[in-house]
Amino acid sequence: SLKEELVELDKKHLIHPTSNMKQLQENGPTFIFTEGEGIYLKDIEGRKLIDSLSSLWNVNIGHGRKELAEVAKEQMEKLAFTSIFNNWSHEPVIRLAAEVAKWTPGDLNATFFTSGGSESNDTAFKTVRHYWKIKGQPEKKKIISRKLSYHGVAMGATSATGIEQFHTFTTSLAPDFHYVDSSVDSLKELIEKEGADTIAAFISEPVQGSGGVNLPPEGYFQEVRKICDENNILFIADEVICGFGRLGTNFGIEQFGVIPDIITMAKGITSGYAPLGGMVISERIQKELIDKTEGNFWHGYTYSGHATAAAVALKNLEIIKNEKLIENVNVVGKQMLEGFKWIQEQNSNVDNVRGMGLLGAISLEKASNSAEPIGPKIVAKALEKGLICRSVIYDGQDTLAFAPPLIINTNQMEDMIAIVNESIQAVK
Ligand code: PLP
Repeated sequence: SLKEELVELDKKHLIHPTSNMKQLQENGPTFIFTEGEGIYLKDIEGRKLIDSLSSLWNVNIGHGRKELAEVAKEQMEKLAFTSIFNNWSHEPVIRLAAEVAKWTPGDLNATFFTSGGSESNDTAFKTVRHYWKIKGQPEKKKIISRKLSYHGVAMGATSATGIEQFHTFTTSLAPDFHYVDSSVDSLKELIEKEGADTIAAFISEPVQGSGGVNLPPEGYFQEVRKICDENNILFIADEVICGFGRLGTNFGIEQFGVIPDIITMAKGITSGYAPLGGMVISERIQKELIDKTEGNFWHGYTYSGHATAAAVALKNLEIIKNEKLIENVNVVGKQMLEGFKWIQEQNSNVDNVRGMGLLGAISLEKASNSAEPIGPKIVAKALEKGLICRSVIYDGQDTLAFAPPLIINTNQMEDMIAIVNESIQAVK
């Protein structure tokens, strides 16, 4: 059969990202997807499944949007790609940079484009070091990030990532990366110990995604912003998951009333219809980069400002606006959190539930309390019932993570909650 043929070819030739190679050799891929529509994915066996994580926290406008296919086709026929290196440019990327500036808070108005989140974060780390160097402080180069943070897998991004498992894939990390607990005191102590004049930037996700959907402590970012200002440390908000509406505001950090110096983004800017990411900087930083050292910017990717990806992003952002998806996030997000609280009341093996906008989690009985984490069993049950969801097991926490497409409606959310509840009941 076609499926058997694909499974054999997959095993022999394909290396899967963030995977277990041995399990894949033994079992083959669990899903071979063929189609997507709205919040649903269909696989080669004809199963129709709710995609409760928007695939990888990114298919925010849902699957199968023909408008994006049309815009990509149109742009490809006209000018699929040419570089914007040095003094070259083109309309889709100019229009996208101007549009992003309308979405961002404060005076964060200039964007450098990449192909994804990892590249965006590595770009930000190099940019802040360059910034301090040209301001005569080359020793300000350390990057501080939080434990359980996820910032990607490029060398800098891996080094900033605070989930230890991701450090096991390389024998040496990049130098000058430091980690803090999610308390203000931990940050203060680290600054005291290392010296503010050696620290370039602090980076954080507004709500940690891959680390288990962890909300910051009350007042955390307001305090962090103050500490950064007092110590001349730049604040980078990693908005790769939270950006473009997921938390119910344009950018996640706005939920906490704080304006960062730099935003990194990816995923939601195209809803996954084309690979694209970026770094947005404040006008103050932009001015320094232009004025000092004759403005040399020795950094860029072949696909920085890809014309087709830019056209797709513009259409995606138009859809988020026209369909008022951020308003939908605030309505259905509230329903999701209420649903999770109801699930907690029904199930004694649920420790706590949390969420902000359409990013949420159910933490199960501590992994350390039970012989085996139950998250993966619940995920398997949910699959039988027509729902794909993700189990996250880090730091003794056994968590189910949810980030459904921003287009999800209240009936579909009811279905999702019901299936999750039944699946938890089934593994009791
Ligand atoms: N930053 C955050 C917060 C992410 O969630 C991710 C990916 O999940 C990344 C960075 C890395 O992005 P990419 O996988 O596009 O390189």
